[in-house]
Amino acid sequence: MREAGVVGWVDVLVDCPGVQGVFTYEIPVGLSVDAGDIVAVPFGSQQLGAIALRSYDDRPESTRSESTRPESTGPEPGTLANLRPVTEVVAQGFFPPGYWSLIEQVAEYYATPLMQVIRVALPPKLLGKSQRRVRPVAATHPGLSSGSSSGSSSSALSDSASSELSAIAQAVFLQLQQAKQGSYTWRYLKQQIPGAEKGLRELLRLGLIESFLEAPATCQPKLQRWVTLLSGSGLSGSGMPGTESELSLTPKQRDVLRLLRQQGGELSLAALLQMGKMSDSTVRALEKKHWVAIERREVLRTEGAGVVGRDLPKALTPDQAGVLEQIQAMVGFQSVLLHGVTGSGKTEVYLQAIAPILAKGQSALVLVPEIGLTPQLTDRFRLRFGDRVCVYHSGLSTGERYDTWRQMLLGRPQVVIGTRSAVFAPLPNLGLIVLDEEHDSSFKQDQPMPCYHARTVAHWRAQAQNCPLILGSATPAAETWHAHAPSQHPKPTARYLSLPQRIHARPHPPVEIVDLRDELLQGNRSVFSRSLCRAIADTLERKQQGLLFIHRRGHSTFVSCRSCGEALNCPHCDVSLTYHHVHDQARPVLRCHYCNYVQAHPKLCPSCQSPYLKNFGSGTQRITQELKQLFPDLRTLRYDSDTTRTKGSHRRLLDRFAAGGADLLVGTQMLTKGIDLPQVTLVGIVAADGLLHQADFRAAERACQTLLQVAGRAGRGDVPGRVILQTYMPEHPVVAAVQHQTYGAFLATELLQRQDLAYPPLGRLILLRLSGPHEAEVMATADRIAQVLERFAEEMPQEAASEMFSILGPAPAAIARVADRYRWQLLLKLVGEAPPALFPKLMALRQSCPTNISLTLDVDPLYLN
Ligand code: ADP
Ligand code: ZN
Ligand code: ZN
Repeated sequence: MREAGVVGWVDVLVDCPGVQGVFTYEIPVGLSVDAGDIVAVPFGSQQLGAIALRSYDDRPESTRSESTRPESTGPEPGTLANLRPVTEVVAQGFFPPGYWSLIEQVAEYYATPLMQVIRVALPPKLLGKSQRRVRPVAATHPGLSSGSSSGSSSSALSDSASSELSAIAQAVFLQLQQAKQGSYTWRYLKQQIPGAEKGLRELLRLGLIESFLEAPATCQPKLQRWVTLLSGSGLSGSGMPGTESELSLTPKQRDVLRLLRQQGGELSLAALLQMGKMSDSTVRALEKKHWVAIERREVLRTEGAGVVGRDLPKALTPDQAGVLEQIQAMVGFQSVLLHGVTGSGKTEVYLQAIAPILAKGQSALVLVPEIGLTPQLTDRFRLRFGDRVCVYHSGLSTGERYDTWRQMLLGRPQVVIGTRSAVFAPLPNLGLIVLDEEHDSSFKQDQPMPCYHARTVAHWRAQAQNCPLILGSATPAAETWHAHAPSQHPKPTARYLSLPQRIHARPHPPVEIVDLRDELLQGNRSVFSRSLCRAIADTLERKQQGLLFIHRRGHSTFVSCRSCGEALNCPHCDVSLTYHHVHDQARPVLRCHYCNYVQAHPKLCPSCQSPYLKNFGSGTQRITQELKQLFPDLRTLRYDSDTTRTKGSHRRLLDRFAAGGADLLVGTQMLTKGIDLPQVTLVGIVAADGLLHQADFRAAERACQTLLQVAGRAGRGDVPGRVILQTYMPEHPVVAAVQHQTYGAFLATELLQRQDLAYPPLGRLILLRLSGPHEAEVMATADRIAQVLERFAEEMPQEAASEMFSILGPAPAAIARVADRYRWQLLLKLVGEAPPALFPKLMALRQSCPTNISLTLDVDPLYLN
């Protein structure tokens, strides 16, 4: 059935804080609305920006009108009454086809409202700050006469039109004509003219004014003025625009024409003025005489390439060729684990798998853990594919992200390299998705919701696009291993491919295990074993380079009092402050790594006034200081979160090290990522133990990944490398796996253990994190939620319900207070498929929380505290 004046229906998502859900509107005659359009809709007494999700030719069975929003008394969802028409289409086609089902899938799986998913996916600030503006419509409208003889395009009401208007509409229209930019915001007019709303509606209805949504300034296309030689003035110089000959022009004006002809007929105004050393009045004069046109053109603020040169495909090794052949033979969706040790040539395989995709006119998406840490990878793609490579990540400015988004929508074949959120890049014609270092935990968002994993979303995207997904890693995640490894009965769409050898069959560096207990017995109290000291001295002598890995997380550099034993803690969080030594002259500071609270290092203990404060632990700073004492000639460079705070500093530090600016790079976890330096021959692991002792079922997996990744940085060039691993637990299975390169066997054992406890990937977890300013209230809320979930479990029809659904907690989080907010958590453990009713239940929990308590639902959490 179809009402008069209506050509269809559309479900939209409105952008209004506190409003949840999808609303249905009519599409009036004269408008065409498709999924992916940004529209304006009436909502109560407001006009809001909204995203069109789905459009229908026939009235949908289930509709929800905006009058059913909670604060109104309208009919319930599903009724047929009260649908209002879309006001207008603001921007067309902001999403490629099929994009919405992806967004919906993410929202559903991660139990997050759609609008929150959209905020992660879309360039920032696009909807949030949009403003509705109104302006008179162009002068051609029959109700208007073009205003007077001035020739300006401003419109005025003809006498006949004006006589039909109400006084308020006339007042609004008059005001609008005075607008300097030709338009006013709806809000401004309402402030200026009492009752403006009624007049605005009348003018809109009569088609005398139009309203539009304006994106905030940062999201507007950046415009640059360009000067173009008009055809009459001919590139050959023979033309004669109007009746004037070129000879009648001033010498300066003739210079402009000459410059333009030299440059093929057009130049940006800025470039022209600079080259010709002239003022823009000269160019304006030519414009008046119709020799040139000046127009604004959009400049896309995409990140500059900055890479020159070209790199040709390498002749593949037989292993690489075999892997590539299998990838290229794939038809449709396939998920591939490409298990290749570091330096086995995975990146070269990605490059050669992508080349034919581009040639076919399709695009590829390459996801990496962190752009700043993988500049070498980006460079290699640019060297191979030139400006068809586009980088998209949250470090770009709002304008850059907006422009890149629009550029991607155009569908030009390209390679988009990006971090986690780039999995939402709106590429219309995807032919391949690659996740490099797929085990990396930065692919998972901890907060805010949706707590999505880019690997999971990439899997859905590849399925929807019917294209292959390549998951590359030297140390695959247990989840990925479980789904792909041949011994784990994989599905027909899951493939395991491996590159077991380094390029040029370079041997793996031997891993020497040093038992630190022996060192102590031998009277060596330094953090450096005798073996590591000798190795550092050797490296220095041979003018080679080395990496020194320090595990630092949590309490490694705290300060405590030798007299009373108190540690110096953050006043806002339940963690100790971290000691920072900026440089020798400066007074050291103490910093909280959770809330960023900073204080000067006190001279006396705040508890007992004792002057004997001691710094404990061994962060990168302490290590470099100790190295200086042991090796006065050794040049060290620190590579950690302190020295890489500023934009581009990762790259500067690595470039400096690569250029021989230091002998030893001393760093934390960052050393495990993206460093491919052939001159590094020594890797020292100062103490593996911090990694091994962690209260998390993934601790061993993570420790093994980190240690193998660090070890893999040694000996990537012609000179063989070596690894020295210091530990108090040489018999730990992780240490053995690192020493003998037996990651697969390690994971197989690990998976058996998880099977017994139904831990992922053999069971599923959902972590509910609560926080709030009052501990009692947080606890009470956690208890209430636990009860709701217990009742839910009891009501489940399955006989084995207790086995497939268990609730652990509530319990305080490992760090029970951060930034003065108390934190409690609940863990849900599921075996098998989640009951379909569970996710709506979880979503509802969020809405029933007190307002000052935040509840985060972390589906498939990576860290349990
Ligand atoms: P991965 O990504 O597995 O760490 P890369 O693709 O970075 O490995 O390869 C390691 C090194 O070997 C790089 O310097 C790369 O340029 C080089 N390389 C890769 N494939 C080949 C090949 N077929 N022939 C020669 N050198 C290669
Ligand atoms: Zn004290
Ligand atoms: Zn703090």
